[in-house]
Order: sequence, then C-alpha cells, then structure tokens
Amino acid sequence: MSDNQLKILVIGSGGREHALAWALAKSSRVSKVYVAPGNGGTATAGTKITNVAIGHSVGDFPALVSFACANEVGLVIPGPEQPLVDGITDAFKKVGIATFGPSGKAAAIEGSKAFSKDFMKKHGIPTAAYGNFRDYAQACAFVQAAEFDVVIKASGLAAGKGVLMPTSKAEALQALKAVMVDREFGAAGDEVVVEELLVGQEISVLAVSDGYTVASFPAAQDHKRAYDGDKGPNTGGMGAYAPAPVATAQLMQQIHETVLQPSIDGMRRDGFPFVGCLFTGFMLTADGPKVLEYNCRFGDPETEVVLPLLADGCDLAEVFLAAAEGRLDGVQLAFRPGFAATVVMASEGYPGAYPKGRAVAFGAAPADTQVFHAGTRRTAGGVETSGGRVLAVTGVGAGLQDALDRAYSGVAAVSFEGAFYRSDIGHRAIGQQQAAAPGLSYA
Ligand code: AMP
Repeated sequence: MSDNQLKILVIGSGGREHALAWALAKSSRVSKVYVAPGNGGTATAGTKITNVAIGHSVGDFPALVSFACANEVGLVIPGPEQPLVDGITDAFKKVGIATFGPSGKAAAIEGSKAFSKDFMKKHGIPTAAYGNFRDYAQACAFVQAAEFDVVIKASGLAAGKGVLMPTSKAEALQALKAVMVDREFGAAGDEVVVEELLVGQEISVLAVSDGYTVASFPAAQDHKRAYDGDKGPNTGGMGAYAPAPVATAQLMQQIHETVLQPSIDGMRRDGFPFVGCLFTGFMLTADGPKVLEYNCRFGDPETEVVLPLLADGCDLAEVFLAAAEGRLDGVQLAFRPGFAATVVMASEGYPGAYPKGRAVAFGAAPADTQVFHAGTRRTAGGVETSGGRVLAVTGVGAGLQDALDRAYSGVAAVSFEGAFYRSDIGHRAIGQQQAAAPGLSYA
C-alpha cells in the first residue's frame, strides 16, 4: 500500500460507526472509508466516506471478505459485538487483511460473562464475588446462602438486557427462575453469573490494544435510563460525558496497573491475545475500582463522546493499524484538553416500540458540535428516522458545562416529530470537574 491510499472498512450502522468513520476519515493517509451498511449520516458524511450494502447482514462474512479483497481494503474495523464473537476477525485474518478487533476466542471475554469472571479470578483482577451456574438448584442454593445482595446475569450476549438487580432474596430467586427456567433471554441464560451487588459510581474506559500494549481513552460516564433523573427503562445509552470528573490521573493509573495491563497480559498468556478496543465497565467502590464487565468493542455512545477529544495530530487510522499489526508500542493516543458531552436524540416510544420514517430537519450545527447519526437512513427527499436512538450530538469545550451547552445547542438545531432526549446529561458531574484528568496514554 502506498502512502495516502489506505482504504478502511467499518462494519456496523450505529452512532459508534459514524463516529469511527468520521475520525478515521481525518487521517491524511486514508483515501476511503467504506461503512457496511452504514446509516444516513455515513451516506452523506463527505467524499471519503461511502456506505456499501454487502450481503444480508453484518454476519455475512464471506460477502464482507470478498468486498474487502476486491476493493483493496487495508484495515477492517468491526463495530458490533455479535460478528466479533462469531469470529469475523478470524475470517479477515485468513485472507491477510489487518483487522482492528479481537479473535472470536478473545471476544468471549464479552460473549460469556461466566468465562470473564473466571478469567478475572485467575488473574487477580478486582471484581465482585460470584458463582457461575448451569444448574438451577445449585444457583438457588448459592443465592439462599449468599451473605451479600446479589445481581443475576445471563452469561451470554443478551443485547445489554441480561442483568437483573433484585431487591430481596425472593426477587433474586424469581430472577433466577426467569433466566434459567422460563428462559427469558434464551440461550444467553444457559449459564448464569450470580454476583455481589457493588455500590459506587460507574465509569467506562475504552482502551486500544495490540495484545501487549494498552492505551486508554479518557474515562466516560453514560446515562442508561430513558428519562431525566435516571427514571424510566434502561436503554442502550442516552448520553455521556468525558473525561469523567471522578477519573483522576491517579485513578486512571490504578486502573491501568490493576486491571488493563493485567487483563491484556492475562489474555495473551492464556492463548487468546486481545487486539482491538477493550471496553471495561467499572464500579468505583470504597475498596477501589472493580470490573463490572468487559466488552470486546467500542461502546455507544461512549465512542461518540471520546473520539472528538482526540488531539488534532493524533491519527486514529495509524493507531488502529499499528494495533492490528502488533506495533502499538511507540504510537501515542493523544487528547486535547477540555471535555466532551454527548446527548442522544431518540424516537418517541424508545426503548419500546417507536415509529420510523419521520423526516429529520438539520439546521446549521453550531461551532464545536458534531452530529453523529445512529438510526437514520438517507432517502431521495433527505434523511429520515429508522431506529430508536436516532442521533448522538456531541459538543466539546474547555469545561464540562461548555461542552454540555454546545451539545444542547446542537440538539436544538435538529428536529423530527416525536424526538425526545434527556435534558440532564452530565448535571451530577458538573461540581466534580475540577478533579478531572485527561485520558492517559501508556503506549
Ligand atoms: P454489565 O452488563 O455486567 O455491565 O451490567 C450492566 C449494568 O448492571 C452495569 O452497568 C451496572 O449498572 C449494573 N451492574 C452489573 N453488575 C453489577 C454489580 N455487581 N453491582 C451493581 N451493579 C451492577
């Protein structure tokens, strides 16, 4: 590949993929970013970014691989977890195309919570006390005997819904029945993790690894509930901000030393080196940060909030390519000072049933805001809604309040019938921001 001719294939259709394509297209060495299948934003995001309809779904590996070969793609970035768990990286590896994503074996760190708990235990990585069960009677006995409040988790992939938080032993036993007997989450509940309830603030850390070196983005905090005041049903995420004020430089260093580096070293030593984005959810407990879960890919909306914080000179395509080629050591992830905030605009009814096909009108985006599309599609007449989470609007600024003000003025410039969004993103963190630290790079 000659200089300035790198062609990239991003796989997926969410706000995460739009943000990735947007950040990658800034690289002077990138000539093309294909997004399969993409959305209304990646369809119109500029000359370098193009949507491609390939095969039937993001699971059609043969069609994706033959497209990449025919179009001389030099780097593949799969967005969602399911194709990663199903081995999409292995499929591209077979034809020699660099892929920024874990092997199917390494993706099991997200695909099986039971596996990830055993991994953490083996490597001394701080996490909640737990038991893994395939047998219903044994799980019930563990819950009955537990001296702590419990959380019940379906072990397999359950689209973010497989975690139940009972408030009594009776409810915990009901939750076990729902997962193991009534099979509310299908095969994802073949095995359950019963774990100690942890108390504290949550943060998410996205980190890039080549299997040896690990470099983190600034820590983010998201908002899972649909409505203001953390009310209403859980969603994929209604907004986020970064750096999280609680994530001081000291805390990030501790997280690197006690979790990120031991995780990456442990996976390599256990025979499944992790290449890609390791997204770790933490509870900041009185006993220090403990891992709630690993994800084997970028988060959404965390990606939309951290990528706009990359420093101008930091070439994300080079970082991903270096990671995919095992040479992340010496390549820096660098960030601009200040904060970013993301507000998700959703369709009325989300996360339940919602209408589609509503026309989206865009005014001029204010300075320092970026509108990432999620559930949109391009039609002859413009852009219309096609999903629950429709847009993720990110603002950046010197302070968290500036970033939030910009994000909300960006939101005000967009409209579609039935749009709703939370008006309180970031409000709890405003008072804590003096302590904030930028993400630390260890590469
Ligand atoms: P997970 O998919 O395992 O990260 O769980 C989803 C959400 O459930 C987390 O973001 C937490 O809000 C909550 N959660 C999971 N495990 C625990 C735990 N052990 N203690 C308290 N909350 C938890």
